[in-house]
Amino acid sequence: MPGSPDDGSTVVPMSSPHLLAPTHPTGAVRLRPGRERSVERRHPWVFSGAIASVHGDPAPGDTVVVEASTGDAIGVGAYSPASQIRVRMWGVDPDLAIDDALIAARVTAAAARRQRLLDPAAPAPTDSARLVFSEADDLPGVIADRYGDTVVVQLTTVGADRFRDATAGALAALPGVATVFERSDAEVREREGLGPQVGLLRGTSPSADLVAHEGPWRYAVDVAGGHKTGFYLDQREARAAIPRFAAGARVLNVFAYTGAFSVVAAGAGAASILSIDSSEPALAIAARNGELNGVDIGELKVADAFTALRGLRDRARQYDLILLDPPKLAATDRQLDKASRAYKDLNLLALKLLAPGGVLMTFSCSGAMSAELFQKVVAGAALDARRTTRIVGRLGQPEDHPVPLAFPEAEYLKGLIVTAD
Ligand code: SAH
Repeated sequence: MPGSPDDGSTVVPMSSPHLLAPTHPTGAVRLRPGRERSVERRHPWVFSGAIASVHGDPAPGDTVVVEASTGDAIGVGAYSPASQIRVRMWGVDPDLAIDDALIAARVTAAAARRQRLLDPAAPAPTDSARLVFSEADDLPGVIADRYGDTVVVQLTTVGADRFRDATAGALAALPGVATVFERSDAEVREREGLGPQVGLLRGTSPSADLVAHEGPWRYAVDVAGGHKTGFYLDQREARAAIPRFAAGARVLNVFAYTGAFSVVAAGAGAASILSIDSSEPALAIAARNGELNGVDIGELKVADAFTALRGLRDRARQYDLILLDPPKLAATDRQLDKASRAYKDLNLLALKLLAPGGVLMTFSCSGAMSAELFQKVVAGAALDARRTTRIVGRLGQPEDHPVPLAFPEAEYLKGLIVTAD
């Protein structure tokens, strides 16, 4: 039966008075004793195992009332029968109307929280920021990244998918927005029973010459064909930190994507730069970014990073600054062991290539890997590389990727700046 839970909880006929207008809840989810704590503490996820029974016959994405084991209503959320995260909370007020107006208001409020960052009078002004960061902005499943006059939206859950139009409308209404483009082609949609959806939602087609401005730098953004929404806004703090270590350095940028780190290193006076990525189109944009910024971006190499690093090690190459920013190697807890080994391999190889006194900036964007575990993995790599190492700085998510205290899972990006004797 479509929409039926597969976890042994029972489905009983709806007996609550909520079955009225389309924006009203079409069902209720009753939690097991003790499982209401997490909702009361404003955690936005209700896992299938926390649910005792489902009342009514809510369709995927419908609003459901979340009830404590006693039957008291303690909130409302979006029902997602295909996902282990069966309900994503819209709020802890059970009477909250989940409609276009609410979603639009939340989008507008999220964008307003980025005003300081997008202030043209800021020290390093930028016209590009994440405007909406899912649960962290009370909009589970909604990501919106702004690059100049263009906003790229990604909807990752059935609950969010329902509000495509309201979300697009609110984003299009923001001052200076000319284009709202959808890039809902992330794999995570499959876990919600959704297929990919890509295309123009509002305004004019995205410009082929779209550029994100950040301080003095300009980065070409391919919103239709690039990774995720086109650019890694989340690495803003790393881009700001690189100049401190890049002057006169031989730089190795591994997992370079469109070469943003390389542009900054070049601008800071790096002696040489080698950028490695497996994506040829990404490195083609890196070359263009070199030209756009009038810097010598150095050598661009399309290669598998693991193989390329071994090759450099075998040729006894040495670098003064190594940037190591792999893709998410652990998507889930279950992949953590395997991913830990891959992170260790990469960091071990990098530390072997690091010249005495050199600096390694190493990252993990796997949410499943804690900062503590990541540090342990890098420590293990340092031990095996027989290097004496020190952490001289830490990097993480910038303010447009906030972490609610009630939702630590929003934290995924961590970086260590490590020196080696
Ligand atoms: N540091 C970049 C973002 C890196 S994202 C920035 O700030 O823009 C991770 C990159 O790793 C992607 O560009 C992807 O193409 C690349 N990648 C994934 N697997 C790879 C592999 N095995 N070898 C080399 N590059 C890989």
